[in-house]
Amino acid sequence: MKKNALYELNRRDFIHYAGTSALVLPALSMLSACGGTTTQSAEKTEASDASGERKLGIALVGLGKYSEGQLAPALEETKLCRLAGIVTGTPEKAEKWKKKYNIPEQNIYNYQTFDQIADNPEIDIVYVVLPNGMHAEYTIRAAQAGKHIICEKPMAITSADCQKMIDACNKAGKKLSIGYRLHFEPHNLEMMRLGQQVEFGKVEKLIAQNGQKEGNDTPWRFDKELSGGGPLPDVGIYCLQGAIYTKGQLPVSVTAQYHPITDKEKFKEVEEGMDFQLQFEDGSVADCKTSYTEKYNLLRAEAANGWFELQPAYQYGGLEGQTSRGEMNIENVNQQARQIDAFADCILNNKPTTVPGEMGLRDVQLIEAIYQAADTGQKISTTNVQKVLDHYSTA
Ligand code: NAD
Repeated sequence: MKKNALYELNRRDFIHYAGTSALVLPALSMLSACGGTTTQSAEKTEASDASGERKLGIALVGLGKYSEGQLAPALEETKLCRLAGIVTGTPEKAEKWKKKYNIPEQNIYNYQTFDQIADNPEIDIVYVVLPNGMHAEYTIRAAQAGKHIICEKPMAITSADCQKMIDACNKAGKKLSIGYRLHFEPHNLEMMRLGQQVEFGKVEKLIAQNGQKEGNDTPWRFDKELSGGGPLPDVGIYCLQGAIYTKGQLPVSVTAQYHPITDKEKFKEVEEGMDFQLQFEDGSVADCKTSYTEKYNLLRAEAANGWFELQPAYQYGGLEGQTSRGEMNIENVNQQARQIDAFADCILNNKPTTVPGEMGLRDVQLIEAIYQAADTGQKISTTNVQKVLDHYSTA
């Protein structure tokens, strides 16, 4: 990690940023203790690490843009887990992925045969990468099949569904995490540290903006039943997350305003964009903005003694950070590889994930409150949302 004097890392920070790499060996040695199996052969194979220990097997459910472009390549870099299976409704995709990633026939499922995954000891984790409206069904079915689960954001399209997913995982005794990759990304971890440890004094104002021009290649994003909403649950959720983890507090109320619709054909069912504001107990405010027709990508904190920001803040790479004292100069990493390895580490070492289902539920509750605020023009109290925060930790 490249750092200037200002951002010199201490040892504990390094372990924090280093994420799972510092945990690989102890984690692997815990594998058998946690009920995992080990390969008999000491020879290095795709399914094992250099010491011959078995990596956890992941099955991706839904082979769309995110699985193909980000998750499958990340799974070639993970140390504790590997791509072991796929679930797809398209036979041509199954054939292509089978060849490209050397996936055995018995680890390939479609949506009808999915539940048979219960009998497959090579699959430890199911990663749900389907349209948002399908997350609940497949997470619950995966839990019933006895698998740990990573579910993409937003966790579901209603908070009631989120609760059912949490209950199903608890009942099955399986871990559930949400695909919140930025909790494992060094620039965003630095925002967490600077804000939560009040390095620049009390954070008085946050500005969080995430908008993109959304084309027509994933039509489900404009279908309310499959998406749950427009840019708010899709990309605006990063603003919510960024404001909360930088401030280190949950908002006590929200207000919101829809953007005017410029494309009536496209935005029949979901909003085109919106501004929303999070009010915190200490009087500070996060001004947030999200859109499917305008581009922005910013997370900025204005504090009593200075400011710090990321721009761009939420994309897969190329993040850049500045503060009132100078550049952050932090290296970009493979966010998804870190995120997935961190979850594998939680399974192997029986630790709680920092991005649990309860955090997904919290965010969906906040999204529901933001829609209610935009629909009514009222300030909506959020004091009843799930109390879960990712505290910056140097432990
Ligand atoms: P996509 O449309 O490219 O992929 C969705 C997949 O689901 C496709 O393979 C499609 O065939 C399959 N599918 C099954 N049933 C379907 C149905 N009834 N309608 C439509 N598709 C169906 O979408 P994507 O961009 O890969 O997004 C998938 C999920 O991943 C979403 O929940 C999204 O929010 C999330 N995502 C997360 C990130 C991130 O950075 N964490 C980035 C992109 C997408």
